[in-house]
Amino acid sequence: MTILNHTLGFPRIGLRRELKKAQESYWAGNSTQEALLATGRELRARHWQQQQAAGVDLLPVGDFAWYDHVLTTSLMLGNVPARHQNKAGNVDLDTLFRIARGRAPTGEPAAAAEMTKWFNTNYHYMVPEFTRGQQFSLSWHQLLDEVDEALALGHKIKPVLLGPVTYLWLGKVKGESFDRLSLLQDILPVYQQVLDALAQRGVEWVQIDEPALVLELPQAWLEAFKSAYAALNGRCKLLLTTYFDSVSHNLDTVRQLPVQGLHVDLIHGRDDIVALNQQLPADWLLSLGVINGRNVWRADLTQWFERLQPLQAQRKQLWIGSSCSLLHSPIDLSVETRLDEEVKSWFAFALQKCAELALLSNALNNNDGTALETWSAPVRARRHSGRVHNAAVGERLAGITAKESQRHSDYQTRAAAQRQRFNLPAWPTTTIGSFPQTHDIRSLRLDFKKGTIDGNHYRTGIAEHIKQAVNEQEQLGLDVLVHGEAERNDMVEYFGEHLEGFVFTQNGWVQSYGSRCVKPPVIIGDVSRPQPITVEWAKYAQSLTDKPVKGMLTGPVTILCWSFPREDVTRETIARQIALALRDEVADLEKAGIGIIQIDEPALREGLPLRQSEWAAYLEWAVEAFRLNAAVAQDDTQIHTHMCYCEFNDIMASIAALDADVITIETSRSDMELLESFEEFAYPNEIGPGVYDIHSPNVPSVEWIEALLLKAARRIPVERLWVNPDCGLKTRGWTETRQALANMVTAAQNLRARI
Ligand code: GLN
Ligand code: ZN
Repeated sequence: MTILNHTLGFPRIGLRRELKKAQESYWAGNSTQEALLATGRELRARHWQQQQAAGVDLLPVGDFAWYDHVLTTSLMLGNVPARHQNKAGNVDLDTLFRIARGRAPTGEPAAAAEMTKWFNTNYHYMVPEFTRGQQFSLSWHQLLDEVDEALALGHKIKPVLLGPVTYLWLGKVKGESFDRLSLLQDILPVYQQVLDALAQRGVEWVQIDEPALVLELPQAWLEAFKSAYAALNGRCKLLLTTYFDSVSHNLDTVRQLPVQGLHVDLIHGRDDIVALNQQLPADWLLSLGVINGRNVWRADLTQWFERLQPLQAQRKQLWIGSSCSLLHSPIDLSVETRLDEEVKSWFAFALQKCAELALLSNALNNNDGTALETWSAPVRARRHSGRVHNAAVGERLAGITAKESQRHSDYQTRAAAQRQRFNLPAWPTTTIGSFPQTHDIRSLRLDFKKGTIDGNHYRTGIAEHIKQAVNEQEQLGLDVLVHGEAERNDMVEYFGEHLEGFVFTQNGWVQSYGSRCVKPPVIIGDVSRPQPITVEWAKYAQSLTDKPVKGMLTGPVTILCWSFPREDVTRETIARQIALALRDEVADLEKAGIGIIQIDEPALREGLPLRQSEWAAYLEWAVEAFRLNAAVAQDDTQIHTHMCYCEFNDIMASIAALDADVITIETSRSDMELLESFEEFAYPNEIGPGVYDIHSPNVPSVEWIEALLLKAARRIPVERLWVNPDCGLKTRGWTETRQALANMVTAAQNLRARI
């Protein structure tokens, strides 16, 4: 039996981010909807053609989305919140954009739907909203239209649908509470209609994504799979598709389902394929996700060949595929001109991954793996590359003992020393680090990068911006100042560029949400710090003022989570290496007279594994990495950390274990509700609950800020409260920043006067 290969989905943004540009231009009213539709059509056609040319047997259709594929599913089901519906009562592209962004070229603006992380990736989906008694109907034919489009182009396709159970799982109930699982019976008829329509078009296999199956699901939800798939059976063949982790723990449920195949992620799951093969019905198609859809590394195809060959004889129907959709990987390595050949030979982006699938399926079908050896050679050569291994890093790491991650004294003692050193007023005011990244600042950095100005000009320019930021802060009367981060383009990239062990791509964009893309650095080897990174600018800023200037670092877990990690060592090892490198930065900042140092960890929660049973292990090493980074500080050096909006209640013990002297968090939008977790936990150290939302240009009034602070004081003793915005100010303009901070300082002064 021939082994087929397939991808679970392809990046939709386009190599030059064509979709982003077309979307944004349409939203801004600068181009027509026809132009946007045409860009989408071109991209789909190009991506199918490219995958086919690379040797992919079955092309995914339905992986394209105008904003997000969960949102596409909502539209398909006619699940449009009342506030986003248009007057005509039909669903159109602007309806989709109103749900996603709160506004579109047509229709009335209304609050956008919530967005959240897609499993444990950095992709964000639009959270479906469910209301009691709501109706569903097939309202959006995008999938069928795209199937027609691909068929007209003569492609051999495999439509992709987000499965009904995962869809419900990912959504949220609005208004009167009820069990959203009860809606399953109402959405299944729409799925049936879609599957019927696909069957009519001659589609054989449908990839039905149910990644929720890798989670630890409540029994009722597991049961729901049975009724759902009983209802969907009998139209097209269904490939039940799981990814991001293993499914073995739910295999008893899975094997009873009336589907015709199962896809498992062998990269992020640890499923035993021999056992899986034995336990699954003999006539099922087994699709093995062997090419990592979420990272940039070339696969060791020789190794896969050896692993898969024995299975080939045992399973009637076997496919190989990407572990998950290639949505999470950059598109094409071949356009990278700045990576050296050695490093380039270690990588595979989406198109190269397609080629890997083809190479591997060919080798298996021809029963000959020799062609794979050339492909795998660089993977093997890398194991001995000097670019990867740095003996000094390994030795240092091995020498680390528990005491290195322990501050010298407990919080009480430190707090006393810090009070004496800084003598800050009650309700001390500060900011989170960045100040507006003006056009001037951006072009200065860009000119330097392009080489149009030299290092001296660049540094003079940055110094000017720092001076301006410090002056502004002094005028405003803030208590703890920052240098403003003018030299940083991005909080992770900046550190990556100054650390050994990282490389950067020119076009390695991946979609984060909607039209937003990120270009994560790649961690290729042991991480070390060739020289101090932030010290010069921090020292300069401190020289301009008598107020304390806070040094600003991005923490090890965040740098790890927002990069493509290497895969030959654990995430824990990478985090520890980064922590050690930044530990030296803390020591150097201290030596340079910087008494307050902030280590940002906005991604701490993001790094959590999908299954709660694995949380404890992650949190332990993540917290340890932060502590290793910070604990070199003397008692009278004040360590701050910052986290953006996140749920704290179930990780409170770990937040406390960070043992930062001060934590600043985003709270204004939750009306200080987030502090409840800190109160209940009796969080012992200082907290700066953000008092205004930096995502909005609105200037908060003094009264409003005061009211929020008083609310905070009902939960946390005043002696341990700080006053600061929710997050960094880099996306804001100076005018609103100045006004907002002035009001913030006045609010703090008013409260001081009352003590
Ligand atoms: N120090 C960073 C800034 O102010 C923090 C950003 C973040 O939390 N994402 O920009
Ligand atoms: Zn933040």
